Amino acid sequence: MSELHKFLFDGLPVRGAIVRLTDSWQEILRRRASNTEHGAYPADVQSLLGEITAAAALMQSNIKFDGALVLQIFGDGPVKLAVTEVQPDFTLRSTATVMGEVETGTSLSQMVNVSNQGRCAITLDPKTKFPGQQPYQGVVPLFDDAGQPLERISDVLEHYMLQSEQLDTTLVLAADDKVAAGLLIQRLPMEGAGNLAGSMVSRENEDQIGLNEHYNRIAILAKSLKTEELLQLDVDTVLRRLYWEEPLTRFEPLMGETGPKFQCNCSRERVGKMIVSLGREEAESILTERSDIEVGCEFCGVQYRFDPVDAAQLFTDAVLLQQGNSGTH
Ligand SMILES: [Zn+2]
Repeated sequence: MSELHKFLFDGLPVRGAIVRLTDSWQEILRRRASNTEHGAYPADVQSLLGEITAAAALMQSNIKFDGALVLQIFGDGPVKLAVTEVQPDFTLRSTATVMGEVETGTSLSQMVNVSNQGRCAITLDPKTKFPGQQPYQGVVPLFDDAGQPLERISDVLEHYMLQSEQLDTTLVLAADDKVAAGLLIQRLPMEGAGNLAGSMVSRENEDQIGLNEHYNRIAILAKSLKTEELLQLDVDTVLRRLYWEEPLTRFEPLMGETGPKFQCNCSRERVGKMIVSLGREEAESILTERSDIEVGCEFCGVQYRFDPVDAAQLFTDAVLLQQGNSGTH
């Protein structure tokens, strides 16, 4: 079962979260692998997508915001796009657009930043918008301040958090074909009665970037976590191994009903309506060329197939529905 755990370091301006996506991540991979057009993701794309999915869940858990968090990598290599969307209730979905071959062992920059034009964007799309309101979006390149390509998604996102949020953040991310997992450690911005205006708060916060010794100690411990440990160990064991000397306050874990879950809003019914809207003639002309009408969900990759009997049924149902509706007048 997928789970997300949040915690605070007692008396210190540092918070953390761990996410382990299991069933939800496997469902994303299953849908993609079942798609006869695309097939399963190449191993390195799978890692990339799993890491951004875990990271987006961690970020969604860390903000007070009622809306979707969308994390996108716009690539300029064989991976054109990797995108994950996490709703406030932790339902999530992810997909990647891959053109051509990605051999095992391909680096992040070879996948998405071949000519240093790749971008990472985070969008916060509020559930309820006032008229004309645009979603908030922050964009960073996939290179560091010296122009060197970043080779880990965690580095890209740490850079993003520092640049656009002025927050020291440490991320450890990993994914394989069973688990997508992540650990986030973040220094809390200075708050409290001692601070005056908002500008004072942010000024003091900026002065603290990279310098808080407690945060630095906790971050170094986080970075000592190995990929295999993050993927294989349960959350209690990870926290005990890393932070057995640090008093922690842990929150009620988010799992099961409240935890991360896969959800795509596509459905057979919706695709059926789309086919009806094409019209009977168009549907029949497709069926003269193929044995069935096949529609793939652009997002999760699942394919819906309607053979001639299914298609005829769609139009019969649509007519019946129409008659039923007009009959009520
Ligand atoms: Zn879908």
